[in-house]
Amino acid sequence: MKIGVLEGDDIGHEVVPEAVKVMQAAALRAGLVIDWQPVPIGRRALDTLGSTLPADTLSRLEQLDGWILGPIGHQAYPKIPEAINPHPILRKHFDLFANIRPVRSYPGIASVHQNVDLVIVRENNEGFQPDRNVVAGSGEFRPTNDVTISVRVITRAGSSKVAREAFELARTRDKRLTVVHKDTVFKLGCGMFVEECKRIALEYPDVVMSEAIVDTFAMRLVMTPQKYDVIVTTNMFGDILTDEAAGLVGGLGLAPGLCAGPRHAMAQATHGSAPDIAGRNIANPYAMIMSGKMLLDWLGRKHASAAAIDAARLMEDAVGQVMRDRISLTGDLGGTSATSEMGDAIVACMAG
Ligand code: ATP
Repeated sequence: MKIGVLEGDDIGHEVVPEAVKVMQAAALRAGLVIDWQPVPIGRRALDTLGSTLPADTLSRLEQLDGWILGPIGHQAYPKIPEAINPHPILRKHFDLFANIRPVRSYPGIASVHQNVDLVIVRENNEGFQPDRNVVAGSGEFRPTNDVTISVRVITRAGSSKVAREAFELARTRDKRLTVVHKDTVFKLGCGMFVEECKRIALEYPDVVMSEAIVDTFAMRLVMTPQKYDVIVTTNMFGDILTDEAAGLVGGLGLAPGLCAGPRHAMAQATHGSAPDIAGRNIANPYAMIMSGKMLLDWLGRKHASAAAIDAARLMEDAVGQVMRDRISLTGDLGGTSATSEMGDAIVACMAG
């Protein structure tokens, strides 16, 4: 497997190396050979190569099977054309249409709920997000000083692709999929999304599909998150619901993610670059490590590689042990260990 390493900014330089360390240890045990390829991005690329997204970064990524992207601290970039936010460009260029975000609780880790194990699959490239729902210009505009119009884009192709990804995922889990929408109001937009989900459902008779209206779902998620397995929804509903769900089990440090496309996938934690704690070796590496685990699992399924799937399982087991037994946890989880010590503990559990 050819896997790119893009550290990103701030705590990215601390949590991404931990993800690589744990993935490499798992790969070694599972007999998977990984060709790691560092690829420049972000503030360091701006300082050394003159751009936050250097000219050959996209073509280098094209040659890879997948990559790990650390958090991008674009808010702190200088306001110059060379300092763009690379994020939306990567998602669009590689058609990373599905943003897969698992949410799970661990006994021993403080959280609002226990026994939570669900995955939200969020459509990633259209919907209401104005920076990615049009090819030029913006999906938001102001025709007069007193009027703003935001456009929501829903396509059959985008809806069916993300629905299929969610059904495939549900098949590997408890075979239950909830489609979250609001077709009571957005009769055409959400209506089309639901139509496509129902059409894809015919190909997955082993998966039980149900529907929930987004506002009711938001309430049920807070009250009884244990009831859900896989959830699929449109971009902005997913944006909000994934943060809500992460809050139920311990917050951003525990929220991994994978952006998946037709040919590539990108491991990317939900949290930002956390400049307030960067450079101190105290950031929680869990989300980045588990994002890396998701990448190996996705690559394993995509390329029918039992070794990659094994490596992902080894990572999950070792992380689970560290969390359950509270071994070497970082400060946000109530521990006192450094970022690198938590990574080391996970590797040690794998060896043990
Ligand atoms: P963005 O807008 O880029 O997503 P944000 O404004 O949501 O970023 P973050 O950078 O995610 O903000 O940080 C939010 C808070 O969570 C900060 O106090 C930060 O220190 C904390 N935080 C984020 N990630 C981690 C982590 N991996 N470990 C510990 N604390 C974290």
